[in-house]
Amino acid sequence: MKKVTLADKTRAASAESVSGQCLCGAVEIEIETPARWAWHDHCGATRRAHGAAYATYVGSWRKRFRVTRGSAGITRFKDEATGTTRSFCARCGTPLLYERARSAHMVNIPRALFTGRTGREPRYHVAIDELQDWTYLGQPLVPLKGFPGVVWERPTRNPTRKKRGPLSGGWP
Ligand SMILES: [Zn+2]
Repeated sequence: MKKVTLADKTRAASAESVSGQCLCGAVEIEIETPARWAWHDHCGATRRAHGAAYATYVGSWRKRFRVTRGSAGITRFKDEATGTTRSFCARCGTPLLYERARSAHMVNIPRALFTGRTGREPRYHVAIDELQDWTYLGQPLVPLKGFPGVVWERPTRNPTRKKRGPLSGGWP
């Protein structure tokens, strides 16, 4: 019987991977799983880069990350002030990578690019003090009468929630 070496175990552990892609499909990426970590980023730069309340990233060791298709179609934006680089698909604009100079061996990839499991739950938050008051935090939702598929947060009498009131003038 063949002895299982540490190298064999390492190979077996790194054989699993998960792939992701941009909206138009021109760029495809892959990381070996499990990812290093997963986190929510609430900072202003990330909100703008994604056009969203916050972005959820999967952090991967750079050596465990690959562009498997369309690397020529990736455009980069370097923010000289912060030393960060954001890459996106030149065709459809999907954010692909967020790299920070102080973490040269890591790449951060939007969790949403992957349909499969990455091996990490996003349990960490960065810049939580910048959480926006319009971020959906799981409040109870009910169907909006007359608009199938639309649900909404019913107004509450709780004065602390006043600023999150209903849409003025109705939907949309
Ligand atoms: Zn694309």
